[in-house]
Amino acid sequence: MTAATKIANPREIAQNAMALITDLNLQPTPQVFHVFYAYLADEISELSQIIRVLVRNTQDLNEETVYRLYHKYFGLSAVDRQLTAGVAGLQAAVERVEDAVDEVLRETEDFCGHLGDAATRFEDEEISIEEVRGITTSLVNTTNSTRQRCVDFQGSLQQYHGEVRRVRNELELVRRDALTDTLTGIANRKMFDASLREAVTNSMETGEPLTLLMIDIDRFKHFNDNYGHRAGDGVLKEVARVLVNSTKGADTVARYGGEEFSIILPDTTPENAEKLAEKLRQNVSSRRIRNKKTGKDFGQLTVSIGLSGLKLGENILEFIDRADEALYRAKQAGRNTCIRLD
Ligand code: GH3
Ligand code: MG
Ligand code: MG
Repeated sequence: MTAATKIANPREIAQNAMALITDLNLQPTPQVFHVFYAYLADEISELSQIIRVLVRNTQDLNEETVYRLYHKYFGLSAVDRQLTAGVAGLQAAVERVEDAVDEVLRETEDFCGHLGDAATRFEDEEISIEEVRGITTSLVNTTNSTRQRCVDFQGSLQQYHGEVRRVRNELELVRRDALTDTLTGIANRKMFDASLREAVTNSMETGEPLTLLMIDIDRFKHFNDNYGHRAGDGVLKEVARVLVNSTKGADTVARYGGEEFSIILPDTTPENAEKLAEKLRQNVSSRRIRNKKTGKDFGQLTVSIGLSGLKLGENILEFIDRADEALYRAKQAGRNTCIRLD
């Protein structure tokens, strides 16, 4: 199968997606499956077009490309959908309260009208006792129905408060989701960008040192090729866990991209950061990586680390570039090493 053809049956789409993934020699991870399922279901025409071209030029179709497409078309759009649903829910709640307010206002006006009429009729000196009774009964009835409206209104307000609370919680989850890497649970690139901006501003204001670490898993492509993408994903989670456990609260550990991590270290000199980087490198390389289910030994895993301290007057991009350059040199120096670039 080389092009997206409209297939209506989900089971058929899923089977064809699996067949295509196998044909293309890709690992059937949930993300890869999601992309190919969407392609065969022709869910997003732009994505289908891209895949059609890629399927024709299979040399460009590797897991990394598919991952990139997944993040582009499904990472944030899912968040968007949740946000839209949250806002729509809130809008509906506001409209319900507006209707309830209108109703109460109408009822109050009617009530005032009734009171006015009653007052006028009471002024009549000829008024009989039966008429007084009738007016009083009618006033009591109107008062009761107005009171009921107020009770209903209070109920609407309570519902509205509940809705606002629910939407607020949902939005908080969406916000947290949008800043978290789904695989590893650590900060994602978006969060990294925001944290680094804040850390650089803070360092410039206070004069406190700031150091950035760039960490890249060594020969990870081999690992994926030898043991499969799923095992690779497990390793990414494990490395993230080691990094988080080796740092403290003020530090931001983020997934910078595929198998690359970064750590922002506020109030830390490059000299101290270098010691921490060395400790991280050792913590990773001293672990035996095993398959959790089968116990199969995947051997040693290592990382290369580049680090640099923020220089006076340097902008964020130059700062990141220097840490990146340090990482590049660590790779050049044979991997499984830390290099500091001042
Ligand atoms: P180097 O030592 O030079 O860093 O070699 P490398 O093989 O680690 O580097 P390269 O950039 O050639 O390959 C990175 C690989 O990381 C390619 C891709 O298969 C893998 N990768 C990227 N993102 C993910 C992911 O989310 N899950 C898995 N399992 N692998 C990923
Ligand atoms: Mg690598
Ligand atoms: Mg890399």
